[in-house]
Amino acid sequence: MYKLKNIVEQMVFNTIDELAADHQFCNCPQCRLDIAALALNNLPHHYVVTGKGEAYSRTGWLEMQKSLDVVSEVFAAIKVVQDKPRHG
Ligand SMILES: [Zn+2]
Repeated sequence: MYKLKNIVEQMVFNTIDELAADHQFCNCPQCRLDIAALALNNLPHHYVVTGKGEAYSRTGWLEMQKSLDVVSEVFAAIKVVQDKPRHG
């Protein structure tokens, strides 16, 4: 089964996990999705078709991660969400 996948989405979630290890911010399911939504709205999408094995090579992935400013977009989104979390 082939699927359409925005690899930038996966990068954003990976980045949130990496930052959560070193920084204190609420990483509950709601804040996590709010952070991801904000960051993804500020990043270009990049769709790939996945299915028969991963079409995207690790090298291509790293290249893309370097060219996109995923980390700083995620950082900015964390700041916005933590200033105004949608829960108490
Ligand atoms: Zn939260």
